[in-house]
Amino acid sequence: MTTNPEIRPEAARAPTSGIVDVMSYARGRPGLIPLFVGEGDLPTPPFIMEAAHRALLAGETFYTYQRGIPELRAAIAAYLGRLYRTDVDPERIYVTVGGMHAAQIAIRIVAGTGDEVLIPTPSWPNFDGAVTVTGATPVSVPMQAGPDGWHLDLDRLASLVTPRTRAMVINSPANPTGWTAGREDLVAMLDLARRHGIWIIADEIYGRFTHDGPEGGLAPSFRDVMAEDDRIMFVQTFSKNWAMTGWRIGWLEAPVRLGPVIENLVQYSTSGVTSFIQRAAVTAIEEGEPFVEGQIARARQGRAIVCDGLRATNVVDLPAPPGAFYAFFRVEGRTDTTRLARDLIDTAQVGLAPGTAFGGGGEAHLRLCFLRDPVQLAEAVARLGRVLPGLAGAAPA
Ligand code: PMP
Repeated sequence: MTTNPEIRPEAARAPTSGIVDVMSYARGRPGLIPLFVGEGDLPTPPFIMEAAHRALLAGETFYTYQRGIPELRAAIAAYLGRLYRTDVDPERIYVTVGGMHAAQIAIRIVAGTGDEVLIPTPSWPNFDGAVTVTGATPVSVPMQAGPDGWHLDLDRLASLVTPRTRAMVINSPANPTGWTAGREDLVAMLDLARRHGIWIIADEIYGRFTHDGPEGGLAPSFRDVMAEDDRIMFVQTFSKNWAMTGWRIGWLEAPVRLGPVIENLVQYSTSGVTSFIQRAAVTAIEEGEPFVEGQIARARQGRAIVCDGLRATNVVDLPAPPGAFYAFFRVEGRTDTTRLARDLIDTAQVGLAPGTAFGGGGEAHLRLCFLRDPVQLAEAVARLGRVLPGLAGAAPA
């Protein structure tokens, strides 16, 4: 990379999103079914929009609390308490501009120039990007794809800890692989973190999208195995459960002792989250349970359609993902997924994300988001079924 004296090297090193690349390639194609992005197809339910509207009309247009409005922090704490059958202190909750902002603050608190942050990969690329822009070094912990799904080798994780390691980012259930840590894995990771005094940045935003257990189940959580003052920060968001990706609201949960520093980092980044959006988020939490349950059911149904349909092509390698809402699959004989994703846009009019966007170990895969209308998903899978056998094994040009 050539250096540019005008800008800091860590800003210059920020990677370009490989998902945006294929989206740009696909832009303006009529009839394309877009499955490349990590969001569902349903708009935010009207009762949440109405709450934002009401708050605006009531004059909620002023600067607000840096940590989030007390009503929302209390509602989030109560929600987590109900879900995980535990007590959550609202003082642990900090409202942020989406999960991305929560992740960025968490990383900024613990890592900077010269530090290392462990990230199991393939992973959501923004962790790597957010670590890079702080000046720290993201260290990939490659996961293995086996016949029964993805696997994180905990010895490998432990072997990559160095005196410079400040944190590990554990996203479970994971985007894009669906990998879901078992309780034993969580205990082992926490033990490793405690022994070395490193932070865990736990991204459990897909914790309710778990597909193999009974309906209403939850993925195992660090919450189940931790003590309140452990060095764990949780990244969370309203984006997925409540279909609010465009609103940009989420939260960071962190030990109470970090309150003043988080408040300052909010002040010097966004100076707080839009006041009327926070009001709508209270309504989302308090009245949105049936909608969230519908989202989870939609994802389960989507998973079945996609897994059955793609496997029937006989050229796809796809263990059913236990969590989240992505199929991450290989097409026989193809490793050039940037090219393959473009071929699928041209020949099937289906938009998928190339595995090259997700870092070490996922390059030969494609990611498909299945939180969508089942009829549309069935159509996408039928289109893919018509072209994939012809594209499998094609020699890269
Ligand atoms: N974590 C993971 C694993 C994600 O996949 C995403 C969104 N794709 C986020 C966090 C953040 O979402 P948002 O910024 O929309 O809240």
